[in-house]
Amino acid sequence: MQIKRKLVLPGEEVAAPEEYLVEQGAYLDGVFRASVLGRAVYDPKAHTAVVEPIRGDNYPHNGDIVYCVVTSKGVRALSARCFAKESKNGVEDLKYPVTAYIPPQLVDGRVGVGDYIRAKVVSSHGPPFTLSIRGPSFGVIRAICPRCGSAMRRRGGQLVCPNCGAVDARKIAVGFYV
Ligand SMILES: [Zn+2]
Repeated sequence: MQIKRKLVLPGEEVAAPEEYLVEQGAYLDGVFRASVLGRAVYDPKAHTAVVEPIRGDNYPHNGDIVYCVVTSKGVRALSARCFAKESKNGVEDLKYPVTAYIPPQLVDGRVGVGDYIRAKVVSSHGPPFTLSIRGPSFGVIRAICPRCGSAMRRRGGQLVCPNCGAVDARKIAVGFYV
């Protein structure tokens, strides 16, 4: 039997415990799930496996500036899914979207679910990564109308929906709102 490899996303099932003992890069949640983005390597003879983390340049790191969509608003934090990051060559897509959260002390203004944000990674581990949108150049870059779901336009310090006329306020990333 041959060594087998496959790419796994964080949270994805790696193996059932009766099949493989996953010795690294996974946690047990009924089944073994990957705790990192990585390559699962299975040894069918020994019934062991490991998840080797992939840390390409495309993966977010502490201090990176990322682009994310806010997916939910919880009591403790905002949750987000990040899909791009800034690099020397501009903004590049992440190969795999990553999950992140923003604790309330790192949010200095209003953000809505469905909004796109420009944020800074402030954790060295993840996903989920911890993000901050404190500071004038961080925050909402595209807001969604709470009434009809259209993209809202900026008018002075306010946001106005071109479709239904709703007016709302957001913590705008100065110079980045589109
Ligand atoms: Zn609207």
